[in-house]
Amino acid sequence: MSPIASAKYILKLNTRKVLKLIRDNATISRADISKLSGLSAPTVSRIVDNLIKEGLVEEIGAGISNGGRRPNLLRFCPNNNFIIGIDLGTTHIYGVLANLEAEIIAEEKIPTEVESGFYGVMDRTFTVIEKLRAQLGKKQNHLNGIGMAVAGLINKKRNIVEFSPNFHWHDADIAGYLLPKLNLPIFFDNVTRVMALGELYYGVGKKYRNFICVNVGYGIGAGIIINGQPLLGTHGMAGEFGHITLEKDSKIQCYCGNFGCLEALSSGSGIARAARLELENGAKSILLEMCDNNLDNLTAEMVANAAKKGDILAWNVFHKAAEYLGIGISALINLFNPEAIVIGGGVTQAGDILFDTVRSTVKARALSRISREVEILPATFGPKAAVMGAVSLIMQKVLNLDYKTGSKFGESAPLA
Ligand SMILES: [Zn+2]
Repeated sequence: MSPIASAKYILKLNTRKVLKLIRDNATISRADISKLSGLSAPTVSRIVDNLIKEGLVEEIGAGISNGGRRPNLLRFCPNNNFIIGIDLGTTHIYGVLANLEAEIIAEEKIPTEVESGFYGVMDRTFTVIEKLRAQLGKKQNHLNGIGMAVAGLINKKRNIVEFSPNFHWHDADIAGYLLPKLNLPIFFDNVTRVMALGELYYGVGKKYRNFICVNVGYGIGAGIIINGQPLLGTHGMAGEFGHITLEKDSKIQCYCGNFGCLEALSSGSGIARAARLELENGAKSILLEMCDNNLDNLTAEMVANAAKKGDILAWNVFHKAAEYLGIGISALINLFNPEAIVIGGGVTQAGDILFDTVRSTVKARALSRISREVEILPATFGPKAAVMGAVSLIMQKVLNLDYKTGSKFGESAPLA
């Protein structure tokens, strides 16, 4: 590193340290920052002046004097910089506008209309972003960027969605399409890893350094956090938990093409399909009534509700799916020795019927020395888990000062 580069790097690290001290304290003086950080008073003053210019810190007037001049107190300013988070789901495009405390200021939700193809979905996403941006009025240039959660295999080196079975996309260039229209940094990642990041920054991750977020919705994925960092793998595709084979002779084909994948057995679509098969074979169940005798309308939610009402077929189908999920999670626990497993996604709305089976299966199947202290918890943000994670994609970059705040960017920042 050249002397100029290393001086810049040290300044960035010191600025990070100062910003963290200001965020961790309701109010703080320059003198206390100097004392706590070990940085000289002139260095602190220069850094604080820059942070005020960036709109990340504000002066709130005089504090109490310890003799001499009363210090000018500083505090973190969350309402000068904003982030848009998008959960690009197969049924809805859900967007939020948030401040730097991750408080939601505005939200928008519209149907995705997957059948409109990549450009149709992107245009609808753009509409959601523009509606949220308009909420900022005169502060529109205070928008720091767009974070997005997308279902699919994301190739981080190429910065594209390489394959998304849910959207039927191959090599979809989200940033390439939206960037010229928005002129703002766009960061996207796989929905489950994004959920895990949301948990890391604002949820259970405050308590744990090693945990795995399992998303059980239309598909199944895992976001693995090791030592406070997401596990990416060589291309950014680690965590395809749903596509491990659990039934080698299964007749049930997964969307990935393989047979007997966990996703085919335990996801929302897998549960609905298993119940449908039983009913087609003539099994009796209140599910027939619940779906108005139209098996195409059958959902995993109906299966969970029927099971709770004591319907034997529904209970068997749901229990089997939850048991397979528990077997898969036992493997994750044995492999990664996490402190907690956090389960999110639509299927978790089934509640105890899912969690009880997963917990008892883990108890029976995972190595007891590894699993006995592992907590198995529901995701912190429920249906907002993905969108809050999407906000965190930009938030971590702003708070780590990985790019300038409050200004526009003409090029896509590469994924770290
Ligand atoms: Zn599969």
